[in-house]
Amino acid sequence: MNEYDVIIVGGGPAGLAAALYTARMDLKTLVVDRGPLGGQLLNTELVEDYPGFESVLGSDLALKMGDHARKFGVEIRDFEPVKEIDVEGSTKVVRLESGEELHARALIMAAGGLPRYLQVPGEKEFWGRGVSYCAVCDGAFFKGQELAVVGGGDAAVEEGDFLTRYASKVYIIHRRNELRAQPILVDRARANPKIEFVLDAHVKEIVGDEKVQIVRYDKGGETRELRVGGVFIFVGFVPNSTLFKVHVDHDAGGYILTDRNMQTSVEGIWAVGDVRAQLTKQIATAVGDGTTAAVAASMYITTLKDAARA
Ligand code: NAP
Repeated sequence: MNEYDVIIVGGGPAGLAAALYTARMDLKTLVVDRGPLGGQLLNTELVEDYPGFESVLGSDLALKMGDHARKFGVEIRDFEPVKEIDVEGSTKVVRLESGEELHARALIMAAGGLPRYLQVPGEKEFWGRGVSYCAVCDGAFFKGQELAVVGGGDAAVEEGDFLTRYASKVYIIHRRNELRAQPILVDRARANPKIEFVLDAHVKEIVGDEKVQIVRYDKGGETRELRVGGVFIFVGFVPNSTLFKVHVDHDAGGYILTDRNMQTSVEGIWAVGDVRAQLTKQIATAVGDGTTAAVAASMYITTLKDAARA
């Protein structure tokens, strides 16, 4: 049986910051992640808004954060999917897809989330054949081609701008007339001659043969189409909050609700980063969440240990 003081599910910035702090506080700490360490950092090319790093590759920052946590003795199990998280008495039980069971006094949920699907015909069929959710991963496959980006938030506008490194033209198709993205990102995209915004437009279908050829959308009741080599979809994010076998309070979008110390509705379980209901999903806020949860978890474990000794 593998027993820990703290198990952290998810090895993005929130989870790695929490791990660094709990390990430094001499707590036996494990980070489990279903993929490589880094979380959404691995879907970000350049990070320019993390204090102290004017410009750093997302993948480099992920490596640095992983190495930093390891330096303090954190055990890391990457490519190790978690099946479910349960509570037995005061013990937090993490069951892995492999069948192994892990126990901890405290659990920090830092599993982030996944892109939301557009749910139109052709999306699933052409996934990996022109439909993508990651500009950094797939952009280079579309050199010299025209592309469509769907969405009007920060991700759509920022990634659309990034894709012009490769594409001859990028259409950003958004369902409303107003963009949700931050003005600084919108201004940058508007200044980019390769970007054209297609607003008030509802994507209806992605069409092709071997690969994507056409994206069809409705504008003002009229069906229109664009010939593109790829469709990049950035219509939001679905938090990975369904691993819990116990009920943990969450909002309508599935984001876990916490108090100001990142404590969830279940004693001994904290939630940090993109899986948590909060204003923004930034590296700096994720790291702050992780730090707060680590300190709170450490205090909780001290209380448990004191009670056991009494
Ligand atoms: P988001 O802010 O939730 O935006 C999602 C966009 O997709 C919205 O414009 C939304 O339209 C549209 N949308 C949602 N469902 C749709 C559907 N079924 N059909 C068509 N359009 C649909 O998501 P995000 O851009 O992925 O960003 C997620 C979080 O990460 C945000 O907090 C964001 O600030 C952060 N982020 C920050 C940066 C940065 O600071 N550089 C970069 C990327 C992401 P409506 O506007 O009409 O609702």
